[in-house]
Amino acid sequence: MDKERKLIIAGNWKMNKTVAEAIDLVNSLARELAKVKDADIVVCPPFTALSDVSKAILASKNIALGAQNMSENNVGAFTGEIAAVMLKEFSVRYVILGHSERRTFQLESDELISKKARAAHAAALKPIVCVGETLTEREAGRMEKVLETQVQGSLAGLNKDQMVETVVAYEPVWAIGTGKTASAQQAQEAHAFIRAQIAKMFDDAVARKVRIQYGGSVKPANARELMSLPDVDGALVGGAALEVRSFADIVKNSI
Ligand code: PGA
Repeated sequence: MDKERKLIIAGNWKMNKTVAEAIDLVNSLARELAKVKDADIVVCPPFTALSDVSKAILASKNIALGAQNMSENNVGAFTGEIAAVMLKEFSVRYVILGHSERRTFQLESDELISKKARAAHAAALKPIVCVGETLTEREAGRMEKVLETQVQGSLAGLNKDQMVETVVAYEPVWAIGTGKTASAQQAQEAHAFIRAQIAKMFDDAVARKVRIQYGGSVKPANARELMSLPDVDGALVGGAALEVRSFADIVKNSI
């Protein structure tokens, strides 16, 4: 697929996989996807598997490592937290920030997410910043307002160079883990709206370079249509990233 921006397909493994299972999965993916060149492929295992997955993909040129969260602080008395520099020790290159599950269960705010995004860039990690409306918000006609607030709040304080190196993931909350995918039209509209917000905050040239992933029940069967949309530059995959066949097929159907 000939796209203006390089596709980025990331697997968000969430709180799944023991170390042994994680190694198995990533070794199988590395074999299946060895020839893929036209997309950035990222796996985001839980923290506990980062070290071993990092070693397992050393020889694989086309799978990069991501984490699912990090602290906005660099060091100190923050029990249970993980700093960006600690992720760097395992050659982590991406970090998912502000996933809707964290916004819901850990009450993460846009302000906190923006602090984390700045801390990620300060450590040369590329954030994948998640935004998305709930079903209630969409049905109340508030989708654009919600996305505007989340985009402006979560990306606040980044400079243009950092913004270009940031990935935004549009994940309508009603499509996550539900089997309901946004229609092509709904996805394209939301992505174009997000890109327009980025243009407003930064400029057109920056907005044209930023990769915006779609997330929410991405499957091998719907990947091709979603990835063919002009403003969709990749996918953030949950459930279907836990199994080699479905994730490899999503990647292959997307390129
Ligand atoms: P899903 O999750 O693919 O299982 O819907 C996506 C996500 O939460 O990133």
